[in-house]
Amino acid sequence: MLVDTKYGMFIDGEWVHAGNRAVIDVVNPATLEKIAEVPLGSADDAKMAIQSAKEAFEPWADLTARERSGYLYRAYELMLQQKEKLAELLTLEQGKPLKEALAEIEFAASFLLWYAEEGNRVYGETIPSSKKNKRLWAIPQPIGVVAAITPWNFPSAMVTRKIAPALAAGCTVVLKPAEQTPLSAIEIMKIFEEVGLPRGVVNLITGNPAEIGEVLLNSKDVKSITFTGSTEVGKLLMKGSASNLKKVSLELGGHAPLLVLEDADLDLAAEQALASKFRNCGQTCICTNRIFVHENIKEVFLEKLVNKVRNLKMGEGLNVKTDIGPLINESALKKVTDHVNDAHRKGAEILIGGKEWDGPGGYYFEPTVLSNVTRDMKIMNEETFGPVVPVYSFEKLDDAISVANDTDYGLAAFVFTNDFNKAIYVSEKLQYGIVGINDVFPGTAEAPFGGIKESGFGKEGGHQGIKEFLEWKYISAAVK
Ligand code: ADP
Repeated sequence: MLVDTKYGMFIDGEWVHAGNRAVIDVVNPATLEKIAEVPLGSADDAKMAIQSAKEAFEPWADLTARERSGYLYRAYELMLQQKEKLAELLTLEQGKPLKEALAEIEFAASFLLWYAEEGNRVYGETIPSSKKNKRLWAIPQPIGVVAAITPWNFPSAMVTRKIAPALAAGCTVVLKPAEQTPLSAIEIMKIFEEVGLPRGVVNLITGNPAEIGEVLLNSKDVKSITFTGSTEVGKLLMKGSASNLKKVSLELGGHAPLLVLEDADLDLAAEQALASKFRNCGQTCICTNRIFVHENIKEVFLEKLVNKVRNLKMGEGLNVKTDIGPLINESALKKVTDHVNDAHRKGAEILIGGKEWDGPGGYYFEPTVLSNVTRDMKIMNEETFGPVVPVYSFEKLDDAISVANDTDYGLAAFVFTNDFNKAIYVSEKLQYGIVGINDVFPGTAEAPFGGIKESGFGKEGGHQGIKEFLEWKYISAAVK
């Protein structure tokens, strides 16, 4: 289905191909076959992209919100028209099952639609003055050139979740997608080109992350960095942004707990735990990383969960029967293996899975459930980002909450219960930016997604999402 195997960068409205320079191979993680290549862009390419975004900024910001939203609406429609093709490409470069890729494209498109609408509702404020001869008001204005750095786990949705609000606010963008999955991002640039977005309003560069990152950080013309990725790189970016005081929004790692209370609907809890843990092969930042189940229902819950895991079909995402695909790369496989071995050594029981799967050449690890886990195990303390779930049992709810909160991360947490009061109690006590009650899919364009603690700050989605790209100007007028 690929029209081309050589993809370019998008700088100043032009496609920049590798020519004689080095390339980055894009590999299908399901088979390890090379599927395409993109240029290894240089620091100069990044500078050109920033310059282009800078020149495009004023005219773009001067358009009416309605004019800007017109482009976003058209991009939304075009994206949906091509969703099958885009989903197939996403699966090829990222590995997730086709049905998940299709859902991701629809999710990605939903941000274009939401911010096409929300851009028209960026209201200012009038402020009652304490002095008779003064009139005061505050107006939101676009911050300027935005650098967006996106991860490989959602190659399409993380791009639109950042770009759509930035454009709607009146900002221009330089995007650096993850080197493993640049193709879905490039397809989004093609959509923006097709809808006639003015030259320079969006730019895309591929290349060495540290080298490109340094140019973005050092540029005084880049006013804001919006990043989704590891906590480690997030901290680097925040440090680097200090030299010229850029605004930073960070959506970083997670270590989500999922609590199953004694009164929970156990079929629902097992089904949703499965979906939350094994979606994208466990590689989403809000994937359940620890299950806390009440001692009295542990055996029944585990039986239901393990039975469901047994039915998961592992394999290439392009096969429509596949439920769970490969991990993204070798280091991901090593980390998962290490977490399982460490837990096993320290006394965990492997109820199902527990080892690599000999698939068609890719990085596969069997979906795994561990019980008898203890708090000294790596898996209870670090983000696994793979298809393994440790199950920890508790007697007292407050103890479970306390262990669930005992982490530097604070992105998402889930609780399963039919007791309304307990649901409210737990959701208020959990120190996380997002809490799902009987719901493991809280992400949606109209709501504010984002973490606390070392999971980052800043919100994506909702009316809050556009505010990341605005700054407030206060105007005071003296009248006669
Ligand atoms: P992961 O470990 O899951 O790949 P990363 O945080 O390394 O997560 O990657 C997320 C994004 O950050 C990717 O686009 C990657 O290229 C980019 N990135 C990695 N290191 C740097 C860096 N030093 N400066 C800027 N961007 C970086």
